[in-house]
Amino acid sequence: MRFTVLSSGSKANCTFVEAAGKRFLVDCGLSGKQAEERLRSVGIAPESLEAILVTHEHQDHINGVATLSRRYGLPVYANERTMERIKKPRGREIFNTGQDFCVGPVEVTPFSIVHDAVDPVGYVIRAEGFRLCMLTDLGRVTTLVQEHVRGANAIVLESNHDLEMLQSCSYTWELKQRIASAHGHLCNEAAGQLLEEIMHPELFHVVLGHLSENSNTPNLALECANRYLKRCADRAGGLRTLLCGNVYESLPTLELDEPHPAKVLVNA
Ligand SMILES: [Zn+2]
Ligand SMILES: [Zn+2]
Repeated sequence: MRFTVLSSGSKANCTFVEAAGKRFLVDCGLSGKQAEERLRSVGIAPESLEAILVTHEHQDHINGVATLSRRYGLPVYANERTMERIKKPRGREIFNTGQDFCVGPVEVTPFSIVHDAVDPVGYVIRAEGFRLCMLTDLGRVTTLVQEHVRGANAIVLESNHDLEMLQSCSYTWELKQRIASAHGHLCNEAAGQLLEEIMHPELFHVVLGHLSENSNTPNLALECANRYLKRCADRAGGLRTLLCGNVYESLPTLELDEPHPAKVLVNA
């Protein structure tokens, strides 16, 4: 299994996954054209995609979904209420939140998260004995979320804002309230706490995602995550990668089948 975060941030989210021979995207907040360019830039022909999985209907997650679906004949996987918001995809594969489904040989668990969308989900994607978790756009970590992300071998985890920066940034009071609410976005501290809680020797890759450009910086997010990782250093021996996603360029492709890390990646 391997995955590439093509874009992550408040403006556009899109991750490429290849598992058990299947190639698909999780969300496509990039335009169709941008997504094609990013895919090609990491050596993936858009024509080789086979599906798109959608977490929720916010524009930064679905902007290019229908375009790519029609252009390449890709089925779109989403729950019913989310699917209603996607205009004319080529094929609709409706799942029930909380019930596993398969994309070919890949097993996917869509689990409920709290966020101001109609029926938002996180995903656990299982193939080849590995588990990749996609967990962004949630206001708080519930017990259900903890249960699902435990045992992840890789996670794309929201680290949206620094609480102090959010309070002092130029957003309106209403927007600040929305972001910090239980239905908004996860702050750096909450992401760090979750990491500390779920860390185990076979969690290999952590990508901090959905960073706000106005109320966070990659340095603050990484610093916070590292502070929590130090507290569980005895369980973090397998960690090879701690990166922050961004909306400007793809991150390196992260592999889940290499027994020995070629190098340790940490960006700033
Ligand atoms: Zn989002
Ligand atoms: Zn959202």
